[in-house]
Amino acid sequence: MQVIDFLASHMLAFALFALLIGLLIGSFLNVVIYRLPKMMQRDWRAQAREILELPAEPAGATFNLILPNSTCPQCSHEIKAWENIPLISYLALRGKCSSCKTPISARYPLVELACGVLSAYVAWHFGFTWQTAGMLVLTWGLLAMSLIDADHQLLPDALVLPLLWLGLIANYFGLFTSLEDALWGAIAGYLSLWSVYWLFKLVTGKEGMGYGDFKLLAMLGAWGGWQVLPLTILLSSLVGAILGVLMLKMRNAQTSTPIPFGPYLAIAGWIALLWGDRITDTYLQFAGFR
Ligand SMILES: [Zn+2]
Repeated sequence: MQVIDFLASHMLAFALFALLIGLLIGSFLNVVIYRLPKMMQRDWRAQAREILELPAEPAGATFNLILPNSTCPQCSHEIKAWENIPLISYLALRGKCSSCKTPISARYPLVELACGVLSAYVAWHFGFTWQTAGMLVLTWGLLAMSLIDADHQLLPDALVLPLLWLGLIANYFGLFTSLEDALWGAIAGYLSLWSVYWLFKLVTGKEGMGYGDFKLLAMLGAWGGWQVLPLTILLSSLVGAILGVLMLKMRNAQTSTPIPFGPYLAIAGWIALLWGDRITDTYLQFAGFR
């Protein structure tokens, strides 16, 4: 396999290859981010009607991650294959629907670009290894979760739980840490935020975060081991505090407006997995412990 040999021995080519794959996956993530919450809401409605013994709603058209084909939300113009090329189509269409000229949200190309750049960096960071493969899947999952949580204050189990198991399986092979550390990472990740949640609720009577956040931290612990948890929590509070204050200032919103914690956890966990050792070493040196 000459192509594989070439990618394995040329780092830049491998990173560019990851960039292209990342752009394509980013395009698919846009579909997941838009449709998965809608699919969940349809499911919940159907279940609720069943429990309330209401007649089922008439079965609508198939709606999943593959079908129906994407359409313009304004004029229902079906998106053609050439209009679905990551980044390029958006630029070629100048950010407008080819049929009704309604502006297309800049978020679609931005998600594609972010996914491409992050994928290229992961490939560069870990090189031609199984770690890159694992970290790419995790990165794509975290990106989708973060945006769904930002949109709907919802961290879908359908994304978090499979990735939790995948992290444990990856570390059965010692990909990022030992299986033992990964197992305790998952347990400690869940329990730490669960305790904070109940303490906060008992003291203030309010709910500061959701169960999805516990599962997300458990998932990050399963990938990086319990060692990544302190830094993840520290960084997420830091990122959350900074962005939270900025958003409150900009929106002029009340302090009780729920701000999803998932995206901060995801960003912090990703940073801790890639640079955790280096950040901790630098800090200890800085603090005079080394
Ligand atoms: Zn249109």
